[in-house]
This record gives sequence, structure tokens and C-alpha cells, in this order.
Amino acid sequence: KEITADSIRKEVEAKNVRFLRLAFTDVNGTLKNVEVPKSQLDKVLDNEIRFDGSSIDGFVRIEESDMVLYPDLSTWMVLPWVDETGARIGRLTCSVHKTNGEPFEGDPRNNLKRVLKKMTDMGFEAFNIGFEAEFHLFKLGEDGDWTTKVPDHASYFDMTSDDEGARCRRDIVETLESIGFEVEAAHHEVGEGQQEIDFKFDDALTTADRVQTFKMIVRETARKHGLFATFMPKPLEGKAGNGMHTNMSLMKNGKNAFYDANNEYHLSADARYFLNGILTHARAITAIGNPTVNSYKRLIPGYEAPVYISWARKNRSPLVRIPDADEVTTRLEMRSADPTANPYLLLAAALNAGLEGIKRGEEPMAPITSNVFEMPEAKRAELGIKPLPSTLHNAIKAFKADDVIKDALGEHLSASFIESKELEWSQYTQSVSDWERSKYMGY
Ligand code: GLN
Ligand code: MG
Ligand code: MG
Ligand code: MG
Repeated sequence: KEITADSIRKEVEAKNVRFLRLAFTDVNGTLKNVEVPKSQLDKVLDNEIRFDGSSIDGFVRIEESDMVLYPDLSTWMVLPWVDETGARIGRLTCSVHKTNGEPFEGDPRNNLKRVLKKMTDMGFEAFNIGFEAEFHLFKLGEDGDWTTKVPDHASYFDMTSDDEGARCRRDIVETLESIGFEVEAAHHEVGEGQQEIDFKFDDALTTADRVQTFKMIVRETARKHGLFATFMPKPLEGKAGNGMHTNMSLMKNGKNAFYDANNEYHLSADARYFLNGILTHARAITAIGNPTVNSYKRLIPGYEAPVYISWARKNRSPLVRIPDADEVTTRLEMRSADPTANPYLLLAAALNAGLEGIKRGEEPMAPITSNVFEMPEAKRAELGIKPLPSTLHNAIKAFKADDVIKDALGEHLSASFIESKELEWSQYTQSVSDWERSKYMGY
């Protein structure tokens, strides 16, 4: 059913909605919101809510900081929580505009729409995305802060899984369903305390909006179970990390443009060219998909996370895998990104790389048929298989050298992304860790 200003007004009354959260995302992928009381509903719906953007990461400087929120009515939802008085909170995802009404270039959501427009200009209707976001649940400490104690350790030997982790996961799934998500799979992951919940694929903008909501629901629900949810890529050394596999396909004339029954991998020419674009720009995409210092501690051999730029049908060691699928679900699974990525920037980068590949019309390298980690170095060199960047620093360098990926973010976001990440890297290089103390204190 279509959501209109009128249907929102009715629901606000009917469901005792007393506050409205107007959400948007900063350059680092953090979900931000301006909360206003219900009395401001008319202003909200007339795009009249202003805020000062000067303190938002990647937004603007003090001189030009006034911003206006334009809610996307199709994103309206009443949050699944009720307070003691029966009051509820409504939520709208917004695009950020300048006071002259133009979309603000520093808003990652606006930027994704800009890149999606390039796609429709090339004759495709939709960029379909399914994310597989993994996360860890840890016990909360006495002080209400996180610990690194896992909730399902106790049940490890008793072969049941009715522990707090599993109960929490079921609660998350039902909460997501109550706000309209179609959850397709939810399961315990390899690591202790590690979970994965997958919701149905949809167009890129919808899925990016949803994954932001998803993370909020996961975090809030975990707290109710005395748990702390983290999407940190590698919270525990020597254990499995958290990925956000990105399943991608394009639609044309109402059909999956990536499917071709006659190809041995069921991949159409457009799919193969798109794949070639992803592989060509993989190093720069990594900066966006793996944007934290910690991200690179996940991209190591041994934990089903990719390290090398290659693709395969079945093997899970390369960057891109082609899952067994039918006409509707044939897709590329890019396995590098992790859930600290800004989903709007990640999808803009992947799409721009893929479209560039389609424009160039060149076939990708041959797929690999064996585990890329077990290949001798010389064999990888012979096949032209290069590694992903090994640190955030190397990834930023790759990003700066790649015009296609910089173009995917546009000038404003590229500059603020680089500024933010170079600062993060510099802070990291100055920090002294426990590992260093235990290694070098005796010197
Ligand atoms: N946790 C793995 C990763 O880091 C993925 C495991 C899986 O889903 N097969 O990407
Ligand atoms: Mg999965
Ligand atoms: Mg998984
Ligand atoms: Mg997967």
C-alpha cells in the first residue's frame, strides 16, 4: 500500500505516536537522527525541519551549516517499542537538502540516488541488493557496557541452542518481521556468539535504508536480552570475523539482466562485464567496503574472508562468488565488505565500478577452481591474481588513485571520506597497544 502524508497522520493518531525520528546517515555510515515531538508533524511533512549540520561528520563547515530534511514517505515506520505510557515513536528516513532546496552532495543517500540515475540512463531499472550482515552478541557487564564474554559458550557442549544468544536472535527476527522485513534466513555463525540474519533482496536504496534500520533493531533488541551486539569486523583475534556479503544483480525489462541460461555460469554478458568492473576496481572499493582499521584484521586467510582479487563458482576463498541460483536469483556475491561500511557509499562504489565494466565490455579473468589461499605465490602471479589492500592505509591510497570510485562518491564525499579515514589511520599509528607492550616491554 502506498504511504501518503495522510496515511502517516492517521497512523500517528491511531498508534499514539508522540515523537518522530528523522533519520539520515553520515559519511562514516553512522545513523543520525533529529527527534521532534508530534506537534511538528506538519512541518516534517512539508520538508520544513532544519538542523545544524556543522557537527555531523563529512557534512559542512560552520559558515554554511543549515540543512533541511526531506522525508522519504515510503520509509515511514512506527518503531516496535512502546514506553510505559503506551507512547510510540515514528521514524522517517530523510534526504538532506540545502536551504535553497537542492539535494546536499554530502548526503550519502542523495549520492546513491545520483549513481542510480546513471544506471537508469543506461537502460537498467534496478540494482538489486541482498546483504548478509554478520554480528557478534556479547554479554553486558555489571556496568551496562560490553564485555567479550559470549552468551552461547555455556551451551556449546550440551548440543541445544536454547541459550540467550538464540533467544535474542529469534526476538530480533520477530521484531524485524513486525516492522515489515521479510527475513529469509537466521542462523548461528561459525564463531561463538556470532549470528547472521538475512532479509530479502530489494533495490539498492531500499536495502541500504533497511540495513541501517536492521542494525538499530539488532542493537536495541540485544540490550533487552542483557547482550551487546557488535558489527565490528574482527572483535576477537583468532576467531571468525563479521562480513557483510553483498549480493548484486541488475534488472532490465522486468528481468534479471545477469541471467543467461546458455552461459556455463549462467552469467549474461552484462553480468560478466559488471564483474570485470568490480574486479578492476576492487582495491579502491575495499576502502569503502572495509573502512576501519579493524576491517583489515578480518581480511586474512583462514576465516572464509577474501584476501585475493579473483572469482569462482563454488569456492568461497575469492572476492566474488557466483552462488548456485535460478533465473531470478542469479547474482554476484562480493564477499569483502563488512558491516562497518556505509551501505549507501558501498553500493554507489560497486555500482559505478560495475557500470564502468559494462561500458568497457571486457571479459573478466578466468574463474579459479581451487582454493586461492593454497596456491603457491607463483601460481597466483601467473594467473594475475592480486591481493586486496592489507591495511586501511593501503586502501585509502588505492581509493585516491581510482577515478571511477572517487567519481562514485562525488567530490564532496570523496574529500570528506579521505579526510575522515586519514585521521583514523593517523590516530591508529599513534596508539600503543597491549600487543606492543607485551612484545617489547622486555627490550
Ligand atoms: N564470517 C565470514 C566472513 O568474514 C563469512 C562466513 C560465511 O558466511 N560463510 O566473511
Ligand atoms: Mg550467509
Ligand atoms: Mg555468513
Ligand atoms: Mg554469503
